[in-house]
Amino acid sequence: MTLDTTTFKRKLLAEKDLVEKELGTVARRNPDNKKDWEPVADTDERPSSRDEVADKLESFEDNVAIVRQLESRLSEISDALERIENGNYGHCVTCKKEIETDRLEANPGATTCKVHMN
Ligand SMILES: [Zn+2]
Repeated sequence: MTLDTTTFKRKLLAEKDLVEKELGTVARRNPDNKKDWEPVADTDERPSSRDEVADKLESFEDNVAIVRQLESRLSEISDALERIENGNYGHCVTCKKEIETDRLEANPGATTCKVHMN
């Protein structure tokens, strides 16, 4: 069975776009390494009280966590797109069998079949 990758490619590109947009709200792209995103602190006006400083710090830490999550999602998407280009998309990295279509529909970036998903 040959998998129709067109649909998945479209989905992946749409998701990539979305993830990059989200990243743009909490990070900025490293000019020296386009794949690297640097979390940014809330830059609007200087905090005037201690509480505000704490708030900003907390929100920066949240950003760091979000950026990490989004970055790892982005790299999954990029890897999946690469596999589509190379013609080996849709195969489980563990058992090399084809990944179930409904699994790919739910997560086009999936690298494993249902048996090996954890
Ligand atoms: Zn497998």
